[in-house]
Amino acid sequence: MGTGSYLLQKKSARRRYPQSVRQLPLFLILCAACTPSTPPPVPLDADAFNAEAAWEHLMHQVDLGPRNAGSKALKETRTWIEGELTELGLEPIREEFQADTPLGVFNMANIYADFHSDVAPAGEADVIVIAAHFDTKTLTFRFVGANDGASGVAALLEIARVITSQGPRPMTYRFLFLDGEEAMRNTWVDPDNTYGSRHHIKNLSLVRGASQIRACVLLDLVADADFQLTRDSFSQKPLLEIFYAAARADGLGDHVDGPPIPIKDDHIPFMQAGIPSCDLIDFSYGEYNQHWHKASDLPSNCSEATLGIIGRIVLLGLPRVEQEYAAR
Ligand SMILES: [Zn+2]
Repeated sequence: MGTGSYLLQKKSARRRYPQSVRQLPLFLILCAACTPSTPPPVPLDADAFNAEAAWEHLMHQVDLGPRNAGSKALKETRTWIEGELTELGLEPIREEFQADTPLGVFNMANIYADFHSDVAPAGEADVIVIAAHFDTKTLTFRFVGANDGASGVAALLEIARVITSQGPRPMTYRFLFLDGEEAMRNTWVDPDNTYGSRHHIKNLSLVRGASQIRACVLLDLVADADFQLTRDSFSQKPLLEIFYAAARADGLGDHVDGPPIPIKDDHIPFMQAGIPSCDLIDFSYGEYNQHWHKASDLPSNCSEATLGIIGRIVLLGLPRVEQEYAAR
C-alpha cells in the first residue's frame, strides 16, 4: 500500500467512526501505526577519531617490513594487534588454523575481540563485524603494503578505540583482523585467497555469539592519498548506501560512490554465509591503480587525512547499521 491510499483509508475510517462502533478497532490500529516506535540511533562521536594515531599504526606495520605468509614480521604483527586490543580493555582471541595453499601449508591466525553490547547478555546480542586483513602479498620484490594491508588495520584499531571509549552500544562489536587474504599465487584464482575469512566463517558455529552476526563491514585499501571508495557491486547495496549517505551528509560525498567494480575480498565468505556485508575499498590506488601490489605501495602514496576520512565515514554510518540490521 502506498502513502496516498493509506491516507485515504485513514480519512474514511475517521468519517465512518460515529456511524458504527465496529469501525473503532480499525481506527485505533491506524492511529497506532502513526506513532513512530523506533528511537533515533545513538550517535558515535566521529570527531574522536584520531587520524594521527591511525597513521602511526600504519607506519608501525610498514616498519615491521613485508608481512607475507610465513614471515617473522607477520607473527610480530599478530602480537602487536593483540597488544593494542588489550590496551583498549578488550580480550583478543587468536584463531589459529593451517592453510593449505599452492605454495605449501602455512600456519595462520586471525585475531578478534568482542566489545559487548549492554542490551543483552554476551553471546545473545546482535553483532556487527568490522574487519580488515593484516597480511601482505608474497611478491618477488620488497612489498610493505602501506595501503594494501596496513591501512585497514590502522583505521580499524582507531575505530575500535573510539567505539570502546564511548561505552557499550545496542549491538556487540567484533573487531576482526584477518590473516591470509592475499592469494599465494600471483593471480587470484579460487580457492587460493581469503584463507582467514573463510576459516572464520567455517568456525562460526564454534564461536560464541557468532549466529547473531547481522552485518560485516570490511575495510581495505583505505589510505590512498587520492581517495574515493569504489562502488563494489558484490557488496550488499543498502549496507553500502548507509555509509555513502553518512559521507554525503558530512560533506564527504566526493570520497564515495566511485566507479562500480565487482571486488572479491574478505567480505565474500560472509556474503556467502548469508551475512549482509560491504567492502569499503578504494580500488584505484594512484592513477589506474598503478600502486596496487607494486613496490610503490608506500606511505608516500598514502595520506593521514584519508585515514581520518574513512574513520569518520565508518563511525557516522555505524549507528544506522545498528538500527537497520537489528534482529526483528
Ligand atoms: Zn592485496
